[in-house]
Amino acid sequence: MIGRMADTMTPAQRSRCMARVRSKHSGPEIRLRKALWAKGLRYRLHQPLPGRPDMLFVRARVAVFVDGCFWHGCPEHHTEPKTNSEFWRQKLQANRARDNRVNDELQTAGWTVVRLWQHTVDSNIQNAVDTIILEVRGQHQHD
Ligand SMILES: [Zn+2]
Repeated sequence: MIGRMADTMTPAQRSRCMARVRSKHSGPEIRLRKALWAKGLRYRLHQPLPGRPDMLFVRARVAVFVDGCFWHGCPEHHTEPKTNSEFWRQKLQANRARDNRVNDELQTAGWTVVRLWQHTVDSNIQNAVDTIILEVRGQHQHD
């Protein structure tokens, strides 16, 4: 189905579509959401906040992002492409600058920002879940 749709798209449409698929429906995020749900944590998705956090815990005011190792420049897994390296360097810088700006805007608005590397979710989802629970329940104890 998706393959058929993709065939009728222009390259620009396809690239927008893929970016959306990558950011909102990628495997690690889905696995993380399921693991959190199983732990009884309830979150909201797709809220119109800076950076469009992947998950929001509204009462605890915690915003969670799962950052892709390539696009956000993970120190362990980001490797610079051999071709067009200047283009990719600038792209990565722009992504990092945007991440920092988003963090600032959210923190100014009273949110705690949790950023998890995609590889953490892939390799140790329990660790990722614990990190989030600590933030969400930690701030919540005195309600
Ligand atoms: Zn990584």
